[in-house]
Amino acid sequence: MLGAIEAGGTKFVCAVGDELGNIAESIQIPTTVPEETMAEVIRFFKKYDLEAIGIGSFGPIDVNKESPTYGNITSTPKTAWKDYPLVQVMKDAFSLPVGFNTDVNAAALAEATLGAAKGLDSCLYITIGTGIGAGAMVQGKLLEGLSHPEMGHILVRRHPNDTYAGKCPYHHDCLEGLAAGPGIEERWGEKGNNLVDRKEVWDLEGYYLAQALMQYILILSPKKIILGGGVMNQKQVFTYIYNYLPELINNYVSLPELSDYIVSPGLGNYAGINGSLLLAYQALQSENQ
Ligand code: ADP
Ligand code: ZN
Repeated sequence: MLGAIEAGGTKFVCAVGDELGNIAESIQIPTTVPEETMAEVIRFFKKYDLEAIGIGSFGPIDVNKESPTYGNITSTPKTAWKDYPLVQVMKDAFSLPVGFNTDVNAAALAEATLGAAKGLDSCLYITIGTGIGAGAMVQGKLLEGLSHPEMGHILVRRHPNDTYAGKCPYHHDCLEGLAAGPGIEERWGEKGNNLVDRKEVWDLEGYYLAQALMQYILILSPKKIILGGGVMNQKQVFTYIYNYLPELINNYVSLPELSDYIVSPGLGNYAGINGSLLLAYQALQSENQ
């Protein structure tokens, strides 16, 4: 049996199951301070005889295996979790192989293995929620370099009528600052789910996301793009993206039918936790090699 943690800024989802998407039990634990949250996490997993644990985490995190701080959450605004050695704490508690990656890389892995990109060796998973982040599967592997990508913070061309300053504490009007949930709420004065009938809100959202997708497509050439996260519950955003993207790309590269190419997660809200199970499976495989 495998253990999985989807570590988020508001909650930790813990599950036990297998690499095929079967989940035997799962719980949600609020993200408070590490001592409290992790005590509950450890208590949950102690009930099981596990072979490996996988963690898909909010970040930034240190995923460089050569680094002395590998397995840590690094520069999060959640100060109690800054520099927290998540992997080491789990290794100390369980003495098992631990797989570790970003929440969005985990989701990309799950979508490529079991979900909307099943059978493909390439996909991009983007979440548009409290923040914007993306994970990429490239030639069958999760994309990592110096560290993990931070595709939510790219710069986009501002809409001429948009005077909103942007919400990103680091860059103000990067993509995340302009188009994640908190930015939408601050610009329009209402939470996204209360803005359903305001067409201009979702038109502008599509305008920014289409620009981001154009850049991801030009750089990574993904075979499938999956858009998840709370904001993408507004399905009309897909329609705006399908309209803006061809205008931007202007036939420079040819793309598949957009409604088949840019899609919702095949695994719904389970992409992250299934991905973490798969990270556990990968950790177990590499231990056994
Ligand atoms: P997180 O990013 O924290 O994991 P979510 O993906 O649920 O969580 O994203 C939360 C953000 O998405 C909030 O800013 C919220 O306002 C926004 N959101 C959630 N549901 C909707 C909805 N139905 N329509 C528009 N925005 C939504
Ligand atoms: Zn930013």
